[in-house]
Amino acid sequence: MSDATRVERDAVLNADLHCHSTFSDGLLSPAEVVRRAHANGVDLLALTDHDELGGLAEARRTADEIGLRFVDGVEISVSWDEDVTVHVVALDIDPGNAALAAGLAQVRSGRDERAREMAAELAKVGIAGAYEGALRYVGNPALVSRAHFARYIAEQGHARDVKSVFDHWLAKGKPGYVAHEWATLEQALGWIQAAGGVAVLAHPGRFRLSGKELRRLLGEFKEQGGRAIEVLSGAHSAQQMAEFARLAREYGFAASRASDFHGPGESWLDLGRLPPMPPDLTPVWQLFA
Ligand code: AMP
Ligand code: MN
Ligand code: MN
Ligand code: MN
Repeated sequence: MSDATRVERDAVLNADLHCHSTFSDGLLSPAEVVRRAHANGVDLLALTDHDELGGLAEARRTADEIGLRFVDGVEISVSWDEDVTVHVVALDIDPGNAALAAGLAQVRSGRDERAREMAAELAKVGIAGAYEGALRYVGNPALVSRAHFARYIAEQGHARDVKSVFDHWLAKGKPGYVAHEWATLEQALGWIQAAGGVAVLAHPGRFRLSGKELRRLLGEFKEQGGRAIEVLSGAHSAQQMAEFARLAREYGFAASRASDFHGPGESWLDLGRLPPMPPDLTPVWQLFA
């Protein structure tokens, strides 16, 4: 294929390389996610559950059945610079890699205790039964996340939707926020490399970093083997998409297209509903093996 043909094809490819299923904090099963992506016109899909590979086999099976191109992925929780949580999406990984599996098991292991601490803090501000309530929303208790707490708290009528639950109770600095140690950036990038994957910095516009901190993060990410950033993200405003397109050019990162879909009615963007890739950026899927 000529370079010109590839550029043309990649500019129109409806890739969506970041979404969640019931194997983490999504609302749909892996098969339902894949079918919905296909119905929305997605040509290339990655499932990227938080710290978990369990949904990939079902997703791939379904994608094969309906003829949708699928890559294996995972979104790894990372603690950077002491107390900043950032997310790194791993794409085109070998889901059978032992180092990655062991690393992810370690990352998941602290979730239950953190959830109990969150519930104790929430009880102090009048939200009772949050641990048991959150568990009602999660398939595997080891994967309990703030998203499951948010659904319970909204269901109890404490806020009108999941987003305002975060604003009032679960975001950093709010009563139900409990600091947590995830993987280090170095560990996460090491596991991704071991599994033959491409490391992508997820939704960099979401991290609420100063310009200086953001640049330090981008520099360290690149230095340690990170190859792409999410430019087109469901978590980014149009202005942030333009800003991260500029930063991708400046740092020499490939760019990803990533809805971060969690479920109908609960996500900023539905599967595949992202703007086109700016034609001068290298799409991350050109780095896949
Ligand atoms: P955790 O990994 O337990 O800290 O939970 C993080 C998850 O909570 C993210 O992956 C999102 O699904 C969700 N989340 C975080 N911040 C917000 C927000 N402001 N609004 C809605 N969902 C959010
Ligand atoms: Mn999530
Ligand atoms: Mn994320
Ligand atoms: Mn995500």
